[in-house]
Amino acid sequence: MNILVINCGSSSCKFQLFNIDTGDILAKGICERIGIDGKLTYKPANKADYVSKEPMPDHKVAVKMVLDALVDKEHGVLNDISEIAAVGHRVLHAGKYYSESVIINDDVKRVIKECFPLGPLHNPANLIGIEACEAVLPEGTPQVAVFDTAFHQTMPPKAYMYALPYEYYEKYSIRRYGFHGTSHRYVSKRAAAFLGKNLKDLKVITCHLGNGSSFAAVKNGKCVDTSMGLTPLAGICMGTRCGDIDPAIVPIIMEKEGLTASQVDDLMNKKSGVQGLSGVSSDFRDLSKAAKEGNERAALALEMFEYQAKKIIGSYAAAMGGVDVIVFTAGIGENSDYIREAVCEDMEFFGIEIDKKVNDGNRKESIISKPSSKVTVVVIPTNEELAIAKETEALVK
Ligand code: ADP
Repeated sequence: MNILVINCGSSSCKFQLFNIDTGDILAKGICERIGIDGKLTYKPANKADYVSKEPMPDHKVAVKMVLDALVDKEHGVLNDISEIAAVGHRVLHAGKYYSESVIINDDVKRVIKECFPLGPLHNPANLIGIEACEAVLPEGTPQVAVFDTAFHQTMPPKAYMYALPYEYYEKYSIRRYGFHGTSHRYVSKRAAAFLGKNLKDLKVITCHLGNGSSFAAVKNGKCVDTSMGLTPLAGICMGTRCGDIDPAIVPIIMEKEGLTASQVDDLMNKKSGVQGLSGVSSDFRDLSKAAKEGNERAALALEMFEYQAKKIIGSYAAAMGGVDVIVFTAGIGENSDYIREAVCEDMEFFGIEIDKKVNDGNRKESIISKPSSKVTVVVIPTNEELAIAKETEALVK
């Protein structure tokens, strides 16, 4: 069964076509600069890559170009477009409405639209992608929405409410939603399977550490808390995002620097985090190089990231009444042995004993704690696209 996974941004559309029975990626790529000029980068398996720069006035044209490329005589990987059994869409926000992926119908589209104010950059683009596929795929091709927020919907009110006047929750749906849910769901399930355990018997903390970083406390297979909030700005400091700060800082900076609401939002999302702190880079490889060369602010940024991650792990263990498994995933979690080691350092009192020899240089699915460690620490590479394809398959089968 071939499943096309689509991830539409405001001016881009990433795609991967899976043969879900074998797990093979048949083709992948990205349409960029949609609405500006247009660039399609297309990478078929076992054939030469190519780049096309034909105009892409909107997402419908972009999706059509992707489908044309997939059946192209020279570069194509399918004989006919009807060989695509279903499409899985990454959709940012489902608000409070869905805790699982769903087959897209008019009600689902209405919910995605209703959540525009909660995901103003992503949800409109996600809906455009869905409608573009509807317009160009054979009628009746099932489409599935896989929401970033869905996995976190099992949180209890004490974890998702903010202590603001209750009317803002009622009027504007202001509460914690959490993100990277597809990844947290996938790696928590995968970790249990890898360890030969039942997820329903485990207390797991999943650490998705990438450009954006988030944590989830997963108790008996259900998310009970997560570090991102109403938006993906909350939690620990990230590449360019500040994470949790004293909220009173916001009006003080606005007043002192004469910034508008959207300017201060931009500042906290794009000019803060380890980039803003260090003045060096948002990339952790650059930071560690600079820190080794004696850059004190780069060293401070790394220390803060590690310290904040450690504090979240401690608080989630407290929230769940213990922890059995800690999972590291995403760009930093999978690749950076020194961050994993620093986060788990001096946690023996807590039952965490990292095996430095196994941890060093490890990038694959593996246990990186000592056999004597009460808490099992694992690296589980995430694969959000494959997770979306699998959820899509499960729903349409
Ligand atoms: P995104 O949130 O964009 O999906 P990724 O999960 O791909 O991000 O993570 C990207 C980040 O991973 C980069 O910013 C980089 O700092 C970090 N990273 C990748 N490889 C390494 C490495 N070998 N050591 C440290 N950090 C790494």
